[in-house]
Amino acid sequence: MTIRTVAFSKCGCGKDRGYDDERTAAKALGRAQAKRDRVADRKGNRRGIYRENRYYQCDYGMWHLTSRSRAYYVGAVA
Ligand SMILES: [Zn+2]
Repeated sequence: MTIRTVAFSKCGCGKDRGYDDERTAAKALGRAQAKRDRVADRKGNRRGIYRENRYYQCDYGMWHLTSRSRAYYVGAVA
């Protein structure tokens, strides 16, 4: 199986990884979660594992993954 990398670039808001559109961010999120899940399965539990659980669009128009709760960026997403 070939693992394709998703193109990302540094964003004006300071985050290293920004995705150009929502579809790309959604794909990246799915891949990140699958990877965390495999790690969690190996460890036998999911405690303390950093896990991106959503994506959002920042003020610069790029999309980022985050593990923060909705409260953190409420208002940032229309
Ligand atoms: Zn940004």
